[in-house]
Amino acid sequence: MPGPGAYWFGKEEIEAAMEVLHAGYLFRYGNENDQKFLHKVFDLEKEFARYCDINFALATSSGTSSLVASLLALGLNPGDEIIVPAYTFVASYSSVIFVGLVPVLAEIDESLTLDPEDIEYRITPRTKAIMPVHMLGNPCDMDRIMAIARKHNLLVLEDCCQAAGASYNGKKVGTIGDIGAFSLNIFKTINSGDGGLIVTNDQALYEIAFAVHDQGHKPLRFGVEVGSRNVLGLNFRMNEITAAVGLAQLRKIDKIVATLHEKRDKFKNLISSAAGFQFRILNDPQADCATLCTVIFDTKEQAAKVTRALGSKTVDQSGWHVYANMEHVLNHLKKVGQPHKKGSYPKTDDILSRSMNISIGVVDGGLGAGWGININSTNAEIETAASQFIDACNS
Ligand SMILES: *Cc1c(COP(=O)(O)O)cnc(C)c1O
Repeated sequence: MPGPGAYWFGKEEIEAAMEVLHAGYLFRYGNENDQKFLHKVFDLEKEFARYCDINFALATSSGTSSLVASLLALGLNPGDEIIVPAYTFVASYSSVIFVGLVPVLAEIDESLTLDPEDIEYRITPRTKAIMPVHMLGNPCDMDRIMAIARKHNLLVLEDCCQAAGASYNGKKVGTIGDIGAFSLNIFKTINSGDGGLIVTNDQALYEIAFAVHDQGHKPLRFGVEVGSRNVLGLNFRMNEITAAVGLAQLRKIDKIVATLHEKRDKFKNLISSAAGFQFRILNDPQADCATLCTVIFDTKEQAAKVTRALGSKTVDQSGWHVYANMEHVLNHLKKVGQPHKKGSYPKTDDILSRSMNISIGVVDGGLGAGWGININSTNAEIETAASQFIDACNS
């Protein structure tokens, strides 16, 4: 099962897609004077930039392509190192590897995001950037991360793929570092099936990301080549139907996040009387996505017992979200002289083996969040889930 936007898919998305289909023109570029051309991709970019309060937004084909274009926009060169958390989705590593960079893994802390404490230990003369990942909708400790980045002159790419709708100290995620990458796949806060967005305040970065996403072109072309092409690009373009659906979802995002906060608060209050666990740290408790409620048990044994009783699993079992479970990434790292195995990141291993992701809005077994509630759960359903959880803790 998917993310909250998918649960709230409705007539707005259908009408938006049908409008494009009736017009009969699906390509992101067209002639302004052609009535068939509804410029939905341009509109999504404008509206997302306004939503994030940032100068530039670029729509792409996926979160992964957003990461690739962002990495290239930062001007990183093959062999440069970028610090990435040991707990993230595989795309955070694969995008780095595909553009020839070296991912250097770092520990997470009890927020289940990059541990600022560990970052400085990982810096070498080749380190050029940090990729904080706002895992499970929870913003990283960006004040400390940005301070480290400034001190060591490092660029910051925020992986916001799981965190559309989250803010940190009053700023939308993605607008704090140099550039931010979002995903619109079905497991995220809002979705258009697949799709992505990039945000930045820096025009030069925007122009390179744009060129990378479209064969070297300059922004705002309408079907014809504009200017000379200095950047070699690929094709990560979004089409008009995807953008129309994405716009309909974007217009629901604030209501989605507010509803999830309400339901998570209710669930958290109900289970807080049980013993043997803590809630994970939220770096800005009022402003995360509330897509999940993550609990960290005092012991591995308790975590294993509770998750087993509820038919779920501990976070260390959640497949391609944990470095030690990614055989393809491990094979690659071994080849470039960086052997890793379970145990290489003891703090991350320990926290994840004691953690359980409880779904609030993102119901995703792959994330270890196959059990919990969803955005449409009633009060009675929330109460039932909470008492099942408490029973499992006490059993
Ligand atoms: C989903 C995700 C991505 C990739 O997004 P796609 O749209 O599936 O390509 C990258 N990073 C993280 C942390 C993600 O959760």
